[in-house]
Amino acid sequence: MTELSKYTSFRVGGPAQKIVQVSTEAEIIAAIEEAGDSPVLIMGGGTNVLIADKGFDGIVIRISNNSVQSEVDACSGATLTIGAGEDWDTFVQTTIDRGYAGLETLSGIPGTVGAAPIQNIGAYGHEVAEFITRVRTYDRQEKAVKTFTNAQCEFTYRNSHFKSHPGRYVVLDVQFQIRIGEMSDPITYVELAKKLGIDPGDKATVKETRAAVLELRASKGMLLSPDDHDSWSAGSFFTNPIVTQQQADTLPNAAPKWPLNDGRVKVSAAWLIENSGTHKGDEVGGARISTKHVLALSNSGNATAADIAELAKRARNQVKEVFGITLEAEVNLVGVEI
Ligand SMILES: Cc1cc2nc3c(=O)[nH]c(=O)nc-3n(C[C@H](O)[C@H](O)[C@H](O)COP(=O)(O)OP(=O)(O)OC[C@H]3O[C@@H](n4cnc5c(N)ncnc54)[C@H](O)[C@@H]3O)c2cc1C
Repeated sequence: MTELSKYTSFRVGGPAQKIVQVSTEAEIIAAIEEAGDSPVLIMGGGTNVLIADKGFDGIVIRISNNSVQSEVDACSGATLTIGAGEDWDTFVQTTIDRGYAGLETLSGIPGTVGAAPIQNIGAYGHEVAEFITRVRTYDRQEKAVKTFTNAQCEFTYRNSHFKSHPGRYVVLDVQFQIRIGEMSDPITYVELAKKLGIDPGDKATVKETRAAVLELRASKGMLLSPDDHDSWSAGSFFTNPIVTQQQADTLPNAAPKWPLNDGRVKVSAAWLIENSGTHKGDEVGGARISTKHVLALSNSGNATAADIAELAKRARNQVKEVFGITLEAEVNLVGVEI
C-alpha cells in the first residue's frame, strides 16, 4: 500500500485504503460518488495536513485539475477561473508574466488553488479573500454543484465557510478578479518594505515584490525545498490567537498585538511560543522546531506524525502555562490529536 507520506510536505503519514488521482471535474465528482459511505480525504498538495502514522482508513482523492479560463477587460481587469488542482505559485507566476497585479505578496505559498480559499491563505499583508469573486464547489451533502460568492465564503483570518464545514464542500474551481498593472498595492508589511528598500505604504513593481517575498520566505524556511529540512513542514503550525482586550493587556508590552475591528486583539503565536520556553531547533524524536522560524514544526529527516504531534503539544502546553492562551492548530489534523 502507498504511504501518504509520499504526498505530504511533512513527509509523514501512513497508508490509505485507496488513493485516487483525479484530473477533471467529472473525475472528481465520480470519485466522490464512488466512495459512497467510506470516509473521504480530499488532498491537493498535502502542504497543510498532518496525517497519522497509522494512515487514513478511507479513500484519499488527490485533485490535480488545472483548467484555466480568462477574460480580460481594460476597465475591470482580469477575471481568471482556475481549476482547483492548479499549483498555487505557478498560477501567481503566470498572473505576473501576463501583466496582472495583486497576488505578488502571496508568492511562494505551496499547495493548490483549490485549497487557497479553505483557510484563506495569506502572507505579507494580504489574504487571498481580497481577490476571490467566486468559488465553485461540489456539495457532498446535497450531491450538487454549488457556487459561493465572496460574501458567502465567510472569509476570516485563516478560516472560511468551507473550513468550518469540514468534508462537506469540494472546491472545483476558483474565480479571481485582479488588476492589470506593473506596480504592487501599497506595501504595508514592514519587513517586506524594508527588504524592498521602500517606506511602508509605498509601492514597488510586482516583479520586485515577488522576488523579495521569495527571498524572505526562503530565509525563513517557508519556501518548499527538498534540501531545506526546515521546509519539510506545513508552514505555520498554529494560528495567531485572537483574544479579548483584557487578555491582551496581561501580556508584556513587547508582545506584538494587532487590534481588530471587533474590539478583540490578534497576538503573535511565534512570540508566545518563543517567550514561553520553546526555541528554534528544539526536538522530539525526528520532529524539530524549524531552525529559522519558531512557528513552523518540521521533519528533520526521520520524524513520525507522533513526534510532530508531541512537539506541538509541548509548545502549546508551555504557552498555556506561561500566558494562559490556548493555541489552535492551523494545520489540518488527520487522525492526530494534539
Ligand atoms: C513551507 C510552507 C509554507 C507555508 N506558508 C503559508 C503561508 O504563508 N500562508 C498560508 O496561508 N499558508 C501557508 N502554508 C500552508 C499551505 O501552503 C496552505 O494552506 C495551502 O493552501 C495548502 O494547499 P494544499 O493544496 O497543499 O492543501 P492540502 O494540504 O492538500 O489540504 C489542506 C486542507 O484543504 C482541504 N482541501 C484541499 N484541496 C481541497 C479542495 N479542492 N476542496 C476542498 N478541500 C480541499 C484538505 O482536505 C485539507 O483539509 C505553508 C505551508 C508550507 C509547507
